[in-house]
Amino acid sequence: MSTPNPPVDVTDPHDTMVIAATPDADVRPAPVPSGRGLAELRAESVSCWFGERKVLDRVTLTMPAGEITALIGPSGCGKSTFLRTLNRMHEMVPTASLAGQVLLDGEDIYDTSVRITAARRDIGMVFQRPNPFPAMSIADNVLAGLKLTGRKASKDEKEEIVERSLRLGGLWNEVKDRLDAPGGGLSGGQQQRLCIARSMAIKPRVLLMDEPCSALDPTSTRVIEESMRELAQEVTIVIVTHNMQQAARVSDKTAFFLATHSTPGAIVEHGPTKDVFENPQDPRTGDYVHGRFG
Ligand code: ADP
Ligand code: MG
Repeated sequence: MSTPNPPVDVTDPHDTMVIAATPDADVRPAPVPSGRGLAELRAESVSCWFGERKVLDRVTLTMPAGEITALIGPSGCGKSTFLRTLNRMHEMVPTASLAGQVLLDGEDIYDTSVRITAARRDIGMVFQRPNPFPAMSIADNVLAGLKLTGRKASKDEKEEIVERSLRLGGLWNEVKDRLDAPGGGLSGGQQQRLCIARSMAIKPRVLLMDEPCSALDPTSTRVIEESMRELAQEVTIVIVTHNMQQAARVSDKTAFFLATHSTPGAIVEHGPTKDVFENPQDPRTGDYVHGRFG
């Protein structure tokens, strides 16, 4: 039941200072506190409802700049809902409501002065099922989000963005000789990496990934895991995963979510991944990460 998210959601056709596609933009020293460097994302007491039903209760979590934060927990505990609050997708559900704050480098993305399109451009998302445009070429898939910004990039700039993004997605070497071939012709794992490249092309500050490997074979999963370390040098990553080995392998921090039939989802424990896995403070965390439930 994953919702396809066309790149129109992450761009703003009326915004002109959208992408830093020129080489100059890369020359700036990073991180820049108020510029476009690595950004911290912080949720402050976020609660969520669908209609009358509360599904998340006062979630507070810092997702540090340039780190990979894993969200783990049994099905239905609110991980996807929480992820969707982080780029303002939760509010797309008609019955949905929310309390709390989401701060991107200290700035509340729900502030009335922040445009929803700007928030979604800064905070990109990759879904469980890869959703490239199947008939569109590999190169055009990468550039899709960019085009919608209305920004004119030269042919050279576009080529540079395509290569850079595909390298970040860990796909360049496999497709560099067939950039004009349709995206739909790639394997599932390659399509997912194409979606990562498409997200990265508009230089987001945060990349949200909702079980990005759960529909993929082990080899594709490994390739994506390997590229995540490099990605984290460019973008703050938040990943939902049911794969405990994956969380332990790729993440710096882990947050364990839990809901019961009578209580909404909440964070039981969070901290450095090593601590959560090897020395959990709450017995429920230990039981979950060792596969005793969920
Ligand atoms: P997880 O990703 O951890 O499996 P979800 O965030 O998808 O959990 O769901 C949390 C709770 O919210 C579940 O009880 C689910 O049934 C409910 N829920 C999710 N999406 C919707 C929706 N669009 N409308 C109503 N309830 C929803
Ligand atoms: Mg989910």
